[in-house]
Amino acid sequence: MEITFDCTRCGRCCHDLRLTLSVDEARAWAGNGHQVDLLAEGWAWPDDADETAPETHWRKATTIPVMVGDVPFRINLRLVARHEGPCPHLLPDMRCGNYEARPRICRIYPLESRPFEAMIPEKRHCPPEAWAPDLPVLERDGKPATSQTAAILNDHRQATVNDLPLKARLAAALDFTEAALAGEGLASCEPAPAKFLAALNTAERTEESPPAYWSIVTNRETTRAMLADLDCPVRLVATGYGFLSAFADEL
Ligand code: SF4
Ligand code: SF4
Repeated sequence: MEITFDCTRCGRCCHDLRLTLSVDEARAWAGNGHQVDLLAEGWAWPDDADETAPETHWRKATTIPVMVGDVPFRINLRLVARHEGPCPHLLPDMRCGNYEARPRICRIYPLESRPFEAMIPEKRHCPPEAWAPDLPVLERDGKPATSQTAAILNDHRQATVNDLPLKARLAAALDFTEAALAGEGLASCEPAPAKFLAALNTAERTEESPPAYWSIVTNRETTRAMLADLDCPVRLVATGYGFLSAFADEL
């Protein structure tokens, strides 16, 4: 199956986004004075979890092992450039003012960056004319049609794995040890760019292991009660600063 595509330069994908960044990209983004957030979500991970499935293997490779009370969890940490409205690099004519140094996630859009997830054109910001059948092939049988794009996508995913230890130490330097339950939302640490860079420098210098004990934040009373029954540290919060929710608040 082939998906055809050509960018119309409408600029929609450069508005109101959280762009997933590698550590190096996040350093450059914050170095330019722009906002970088650290997001966390977690999965309960029993000792006898079946880790043979490729999806589970990938999840394990991209998460850190922690404890929430007496329950083993794995936590995914994601660095994102956050911008409400237009990206700070977007020029008035909708060209990228950071084209040569733009993050990989911008270079591969609208391809799906996560493995095991299909790209769904209807869920992308691109207008219908960007997908016309006479345009170049973007994706063939779920894979990028060009080796150049495939290499960028591969580098993006590899950075997700390679950056994990440093992101764990960064979370510790930011005193950030709260995660949302995966599927419910994301806990969000939103330091100012200067604070982010200082914490990143600290994380790069330290060799100490990050804290192994985390807690959970949720905006659903049923989740809070369920975790409290397991003696897991849990905090009920409203959607907003520090918590992005997939569900309406249930406080
Ligand atoms: S860096 Fe460039 S391509 Fe990426 S969101 Fe900003 S303006 Fe768009
Ligand atoms: S939304 Fe799609 S068509 Fe519009 S600028 Fe972004 S990649 Fe191009």
